Amino acid sequence: MKLQRTRSQEKILAFLKTLQREISAQDLYLELRAAKKSLGLATVYRALEALKLEGVVQVRTLASGESLYSSVQEDRHHLTCLHCGDSIPIEECPVHDLEQQLQKAHQFKVYYHTLEFFGMCDRCQP
Ligand SMILES: [Zn+2]
Ligand SMILES: [Zn+2]
Repeated sequence: MKLQRTRSQEKILAFLKTLQREISAQDLYLELRAAKKSLGLATVYRALEALKLEGVVQVRTLASGESLYSSVQEDRHHLTCLHCGDSIPIEECPVHDLEQQLQKAHQFKVYYHTLEFFGMCDRCQP
């Protein structure tokens, strides 16, 4: 089923794609207003929710309860060093096959997955 996006949804999706980072709904609302693409806050929330259900926007909820939105990026994972903050991209997706298996076994359409590794890089190791 192909969903018809509203103009505000298109506007927000395009904005998130150029932004290349996560943003809260409140900040997104302020950024759009600064860019003279003003949308009501309720419209921003509704559009984000619709885009999330479509699988083109992903949301991450922080421990503080705040939700951060970003456009779904290509399948890419990182090793993040907790000491220097360096993020090393991994060439291949380690769970690509698993995703295919899960989709098949559960008749579930997977939109995206997240996978992050944290630790200490070789330069930080004593
Ligand atoms: Zn490091
Ligand atoms: Zn992956």
